[in-house]
Amino acid sequence: MNCFYHPDHPAVGLCKHCQRGLCADCAAVVDDVLACVGRHEDEVRMSEQLTARNLFQSKRVSASYLRNAIFYGLVGVLFAGFGWMQYRFLGLQAVFFILIGLFLLYASIANYLEGRKHK
Ligand SMILES: [Zn+2]
Ligand SMILES: [Zn+2]
Repeated sequence: MNCFYHPDHPAVGLCKHCQRGLCADCAAVVDDVLACVGRHEDEVRMSEQLTARNLFQSKRVSASYLRNAIFYGLVGVLFAGFGWMQYRFLGLQAVFFILIGLFLLYASIANYLEGRKHK
């Protein structure tokens, strides 16, 4: 493959924006990828920044969903377990604890599923 702008020069890579072959003189390095020097440098820089930010955001979001899921799950088990064990002594109050526990477990599962969607 030869350079798109200099058909007699061998290409060193492809422009990330237009996929044309570039020789050493025409290739600009933008954030570890190549771009047509003076033509597509801005486009490539912008698209690289966008993808980098998107990856970072989706990773952070799914991690926080997972953290919430673990937290709600633990507290939910605690409440439900406490209510279950105290049922003989507390009666209706224990049912209240169990209900809170079940609600937290439901929130935990919802967070877990939501986090998987963002992967
Ligand atoms: Zn280009
Ligand atoms: Zn060239």
